Amino acid sequence: MSTSIDRNASSRRVTRLVRGQPASDGAGVKLNRVIGTREFDMLDPFLMLDEFRSDQAGDYLAGFPSHPHRGFETVTYMLAGRMRHADNQGNSGLLTAGSVQWMTAGRGIVHSEMPEQEDGLMWGFQLWVNLPAGEKMRAPRYQNIAPEAVPEVTAAPGARVRVIAGRFGDVEGPVQGISTAPVYLDVRLDAGARLDVPLPSTHGAFAYAYEGDLSIGPADSAQRVARGQLAVLGDGEGVLLSAPADAPARLILVAGRPLREPVAKYGPFVMNTPEQIHEAIRDYQSGRF
Ligand code: MN
Repeated sequence: MSTSIDRNASSRRVTRLVRGQPASDGAGVKLNRVIGTREFDMLDPFLMLDEFRSDQAGDYLAGFPSHPHRGFETVTYMLAGRMRHADNQGNSGLLTAGSVQWMTAGRGIVHSEMPEQEDGLMWGFQLWVNLPAGEKMRAPRYQNIAPEAVPEVTAAPGARVRVIAGRFGDVEGPVQGISTAPVYLDVRLDAGARLDVPLPSTHGAFAYAYEGDLSIGPADSAQRVARGQLAVLGDGEGVLLSAPADAPARLILVAGRPLREPVAKYGPFVMNTPEQIHEAIRDYQSGRF
């Protein structure tokens, strides 16, 4: 009994609810921008979160033709559909449903991300994760994770967790060697299921409900989170998730060590100072990426 009271006491509460804003990026891909808007600029170390979900080809066909990145990481997690990735260093690959690409842009890459389908559902997320000052100019690195390489754990009755990054119990996600020590979990709850997820108390964290509604937080202050809403999680250790009695819920739960460094952001360049942004623009325009 006392254990559960203590557990509740350190359980994270929802401190803010954020609804995404419709946005268009790339060559006209329609998406829902949840982090990286005027209303919700960032959640250190996370700079941007987009959900793209459409079965209307016109919403996604144009894709994201050739564009640069410097100073941070882009993380693409596909729920449905196929996306072709290719960069200016000869790397390419196909992202399929359930796969993850954790791309550390470092000093710079130029790449394209294009749908490899002409109809059907395209659904997934792109998360931008900041790099510490000392790694913004490091060499680029890819971690391409096939769907079957993401472990799925049955964590409680009716609760399944795909562990993309970080630890869940004794299961470690395939993404390795990231400075912000991220946790990235895809959680699926059956109707009525409850799950207590431990998270490092050092980390900033959010949950984003992408199917159904759920409740987040300790029983005495649980917050209802609707599909399409992001819940910012306050200080504490784990977080309690529960699906309503009559419907399942799915969410991503993401946490990372805050960098607490100055952020200078200009489109696809995220550095620490305006001077470094100017340098990034010059380097890109003169073909030094
Ligand atoms: Mn990109």
